[in-house]
Amino acid sequence: MSNEAQSPTIQFLGAAGTVTGSRFLLACGSTKVMVDCGMFQGLKELRLKNWNPLPIDPAEVNAVVLTHAHLDHCGYLPKLVKDGFRGDIHMTQFTAKLAEVILLDSARIQTEDAKYAAKKGYSKHNPPKALYEEADARKAVSQFNAQPFHTRVQIAEQTFVTFHPSGHILGAAFVEVEFFGKRLLFTGDLGREHHPLLVNPDHIPAGKYDAVITESTYGDREHVPVTTDFEVAINKTVQRGGSILIPAFAVDRTEVILVQLRELMEAGKIPRIPVYADSPMALKALAFYRQAIDSSSAEIRPEIIEKWKNKDPFSIGTLVELTSVDESKTINDPQQPCIIISASGMGTGGRVVHHLRNMLPKEKHTVILVGYQAVGTRGRNLVEGATEVKMRGEMVPVKAEIESIQSFSVHADGDELIAWMQTETEAPGQVLVVHGEAGVAETFSDRIKSQLGWKSHAPHDGEIVRL
Ligand SMILES: [Zn+2]
Repeated sequence: MSNEAQSPTIQFLGAAGTVTGSRFLLACGSTKVMVDCGMFQGLKELRLKNWNPLPIDPAEVNAVVLTHAHLDHCGYLPKLVKDGFRGDIHMTQFTAKLAEVILLDSARIQTEDAKYAAKKGYSKHNPPKALYEEADARKAVSQFNAQPFHTRVQIAEQTFVTFHPSGHILGAAFVEVEFFGKRLLFTGDLGREHHPLLVNPDHIPAGKYDAVITESTYGDREHVPVTTDFEVAINKTVQRGGSILIPAFAVDRTEVILVQLRELMEAGKIPRIPVYADSPMALKALAFYRQAIDSSSAEIRPEIIEKWKNKDPFSIGTLVELTSVDESKTINDPQQPCIIISASGMGTGGRVVHHLRNMLPKEKHTVILVGYQAVGTRGRNLVEGATEVKMRGEMVPVKAEIESIQSFSVHADGDELIAWMQTETEAPGQVLVVHGEAGVAETFSDRIKSQLGWKSHAPHDGEIVRL
């Protein structure tokens, strides 16, 4: 084999020019390791990419490493397994628990969508088929291999990984990868320094890196400081007899919102009205967050464990957890002021769709968007002032008040990413910027070059870079 074929490379199989589909393939000789194995989400042209075959045979991949449980980082795993991948999937303990819930839910959605497409007669497949099914998701879960933080483990020939807390969601890590003598750092999604429950992201372990592969979701902007907008919006709505709908990502955002609501109620800043958590996946995730607190996990802030161990930081007594669809229906178009937190966070699926359909046409209600809204989603359309949105083939008028509150973000912004990277003791060989929408990754890459003086590049989809 030539030297060229033996020198380690990284190929970008997603999250290049977009924030979804994180998949990075490390290759050297016959060794192949994938870091993250995410699904494309958002615009149809992106979603269709989930059907494109990989440029390699999945059976040739030796191992997969996951940074965290979000679908855009793990959602392609069942498809990889279905297509022949038989290796171990390495991740942290809570990522394993959360990813299992997320993958099974994803399989259910894939199957339901295929059935719906069959009924409506639209699909590029005839008969319509699911990207993967529950059995594929269960098979993927059986290949999970949970690892502790801060422990160097060998996962393939000349390949070692170490997970470090990234403060993004429970279980989330940035990952140090040693691959055939090259030292790499994958940021995954980097959190912020003031998550109400999770410890701050670790500093970057000392020493020289050959490459840093960094996210850039908010690389072109800074988060707004925390304001009173959230409580103002709630109070205004309650005063006019309306209710508040908060579409929220099931994992982490729901927990962050619940903590905030409890604090506001405790301080008397908003009334103690019922809070409904209406997402089966969010409730399962909530149980894992409670488990993390009660078991004194090192991922949880010590002050939270001290104050809340075996108590409930998520409720002041007004939280109602709705598990069944029948229970969910009892809060359709609420007549008494209440707060409904439901997934998905961008209004694209899940129970929140029914609530949007019921509540958007009424002026008295308010929809508060608290997370990143990708291009092409209903959430993004609402933030951009749409006067009607399409739902299941029908146009629904938007009369409710729409608020967008950015301060809940669990992604570092441009300044925070740069500040974190500066904790690196030596300039890396190169920085490869991914996980940003078109133009954002380039903007952030330019900033790394000008501000830090480091070599930086935003790879395009499919690009292979020598390490
Ligand atoms: Zn994430």
